[in-house]
Amino acid sequence: MRIKLWGTRGSIPAPGPETIRYGGNTSCIGVTLSDGSLLALDAGSGIRSLGLALGEEPARLHILLTHLHLDHIQGLAFFAPAFLPQTEIVIWGPASPEAALRDRIARYISAPLSPVEVRELPCDVSFRHCPETDWEIGPARIRAASVSHRGPTLGFRIDDGDSSLTYIPDHEPALGADLGRLEEDWISGFSLARDTSLLIHDGQYSDAEYPKHVGWGHSALRDSLTFAHRTGAERTILFHHDPLHSDDFLDGLGAEARRDWAALGGKEGAIELGAERGEYELPVRAPSPIATV
Ligand SMILES: [Zn+2]
Ligand SMILES: [Zn+2]
Repeated sequence: MRIKLWGTRGSIPAPGPETIRYGGNTSCIGVTLSDGSLLALDAGSGIRSLGLALGEEPARLHILLTHLHLDHIQGLAFFAPAFLPQTEIVIWGPASPEAALRDRIARYISAPLSPVEVRELPCDVSFRHCPETDWEIGPARIRAASVSHRGPTLGFRIDDGDSSLTYIPDHEPALGADLGRLEEDWISGFSLARDTSLLIHDGQYSDAEYPKHVGWGHSALRDSLTFAHRTGAERTILFHHDPLHSDDFLDGLGAEARRDWAALGGKEGAIELGAERGEYELPVRAPSPIATV
């Protein structure tokens, strides 16, 4: 699996000289599976650049939406492949008793917010509610589960060969709970992240900022780290940076994260902050153990 971060910001795009290193685009991750299948996780403003990188080749891709807050769908109307007849797009997202996924997305891609309507898109686009049981895309097994945020929100786990990617960008698992003591079965998102190869997780607030944002649907640093540690994630990327967090602030938050991670007994080098255009590769087959004599 190859993974590229096209947008690491939360809430609203925050471009400018003070966010140039970690990036200003909102949530979007490109995932290329071992057979070349292409997924996009969320369609924040970062998906615009992913679309430009795809060019005009005929493409079939799956877009997996965790939820429909604007910072996770606002790039859809600016995704160049959606304006090509040779593109086939399957959009997956959470079901809601309120309305079908297509109708909820059409509230954004319609007048007066958008010059185009969903039915006018030249591409072949379909909408599917994520099933409650695992399903397959190419060689990967996909699992979606509801997680603690505001409104119907999913986290995803993608298993391809021996590797797995867990993506929970908007998550407040410690709301009303002590994450350090709670039983595993009661922790939001736990089964998605258990022993995962790479966890991409909400890292919106510092511990000092969190008390003013309890119930907003995001994590304090200590809760992100406790979640990562308890689930046994091999490597964790903190993601969905607050729009107020400059590169210099995030450098400081990263140093705090590494220090607190070490205090939890976490492995060195296993925690980092996501930066736009960052790339990762997860092996499909785990390397066989080196023979010893
Ligand atoms: Zn968000
Ligand atoms: Zn959200």
